[in-house]
Amino acid sequence: MGNTFINALIDMNRLDHVGVKQWLFYPGMLFRSSSSWWGTGRPRNFTHEGLDLCFFETNDAKRFRLDSSTRIPVTQPGKILYIIDDFIGKTIIWEPICNSRKSIPICVLYAHVTPENRLKAGDAFSGGEPIARVAPVDPERTPLPPHLHLSVMVKAALPFSDRIEWKYLNHMDRSAFLDPAPLAGIDALNMGMIDFAGNVNVCDDYPVYPVIEMEN
Ligand SMILES: [Zn+2]
Repeated sequence: MGNTFINALIDMNRLDHVGVKQWLFYPGMLFRSSSSWWGTGRPRNFTHEGLDLCFFETNDAKRFRLDSSTRIPVTQPGKILYIIDDFIGKTIIWEPICNSRKSIPICVLYAHVTPENRLKAGDAFSGGEPIARVAPVDPERTPLPPHLHLSVMVKAALPFSDRIEWKYLNHMDRSAFLDPAPLAGIDALNMGMIDFAGNVNVCDDYPVYPVIEMEN
């Protein structure tokens, strides 16, 4: 399986304890989707700039969701470029340090998260550690469960720092965004689709996975 983001997420949050068979996606959670996966599923204003990660199915066919206890790892050395607000929590924009010379330099966005204490732009990390948790959602304000939005961008497409905000990113040429699924280690083997049939009742349909106290 290798050291993929999704395996690191499973390890770090002890999801192996319940057993992850596959990650579940409504069509509106996928990269470049033009539909939403909340409310009535109306069209998005902009095609989706990334992949939303929230639901998974266990080997014994139970369904769970992530929540604000879920820790989010980095799997390689990198550097924090920016931390900006989004409509649920914060977005961390970071750059892998070993951007391969053979491929175009990229940066990664973890959106709707709560950054670890004191994390700030310019910080470097070695990989393997958590840098954030999934941000909590105020159900009165946002008809969505807590989830992680992953985006991968062509680094050269990043605007100057004073323009880094989602309002700007939403309007960027879509070629600035790459499919995050391969980078995260999500593919046909660990991914399942679910039909969207109106409001998702996340509390009943997808309880939060049982959290196991971490050993230190
Ligand atoms: Zn999203």
